[in-house]
Amino acid sequence: MNGIVFDIKRYAVHDGPGIRTTIFMKGCPLRCLWCHNPESFSLQIEEFDQAKRLGEKLVQEKIQIGKQYSVKGLVKEIEKDQLFFDESGGGLTFSGGEPLLQIDFLAAMLRECKAMDFHTVVDTSGFAPKEHLERIIENVDLFLFDVKQMDDEEHKKLTGISNKLVLENLAYLIDQKKNLIIRYPMIPGYNDSHKNIMKMIKFLTDLTYQSEIHILPYHRMGKDKYERFNKENNMPDIPSLNEEDTLWAKEIFEKAGFQVNIGG
Ligand code: SF4
Repeated sequence: MNGIVFDIKRYAVHDGPGIRTTIFMKGCPLRCLWCHNPESFSLQIEEFDQAKRLGEKLVQEKIQIGKQYSVKGLVKEIEKDQLFFDESGGGLTFSGGEPLLQIDFLAAMLRECKAMDFHTVVDTSGFAPKEHLERIIENVDLFLFDVKQMDDEEHKKLTGISNKLVLENLAYLIDQKKNLIIRYPMIPGYNDSHKNIMKMIKFLTDLTYQSEIHILPYHRMGKDKYERFNKENNMPDIPSLNEEDTLWAKEIFEKAGFQVNIGG
């Protein structure tokens, strides 16, 4: 059983409780305009040319994005971090890309993690067959679940997919009473209308979800990666949001009874 991972981030503090190791799995069926990990799009291991400075000279080198791991191999990697997990109440976060795309590997990894008593988080766009969630649900302690845009036509324009399955899966997890945190990437001019926020609140409260929402303010940090990794960038050059720019939305969510964080 092998999986393709494009990054492993240690000592992560924004991807769930405590100090965590975040596994970034390659492959994503969405194409969010604002995505800052375009190197995650393809499920394949890829090679890119990159300029590197050697003294006065610029030389070209090949870099590989994505590495194949066996379940055993990846477990060996993460075991090194157990001390930090134990001391901080942290654990493993599976992110991407879309981790549910490599469901067999993800399910096997989550089983191993639970056997070792690690706290597990899955950070997902929610775009996957419901059966994928059913396969992993008992081994996931917390889902970080993106809600981007409630209007389906707008959602298609922004991400390339319908939000129907995403919202059905969200309803399923709420119905199962899973621990989950909604993540709302706030993109100025694209999904930050009062109408979208109110629709989100209605959808969640109708499902009796009234717990945590994390607002993720738009930033341009991944911009240069599109050129570096030869990916088409369709996001206009708009400025990043500061925390203060999102306070009005925070207030609306809070008034509706949610606990709101800005950032992860
Ligand atoms: S779901 Fe995440 S990884 Fe996939 S395109 Fe959107 S922002 Fe990027």
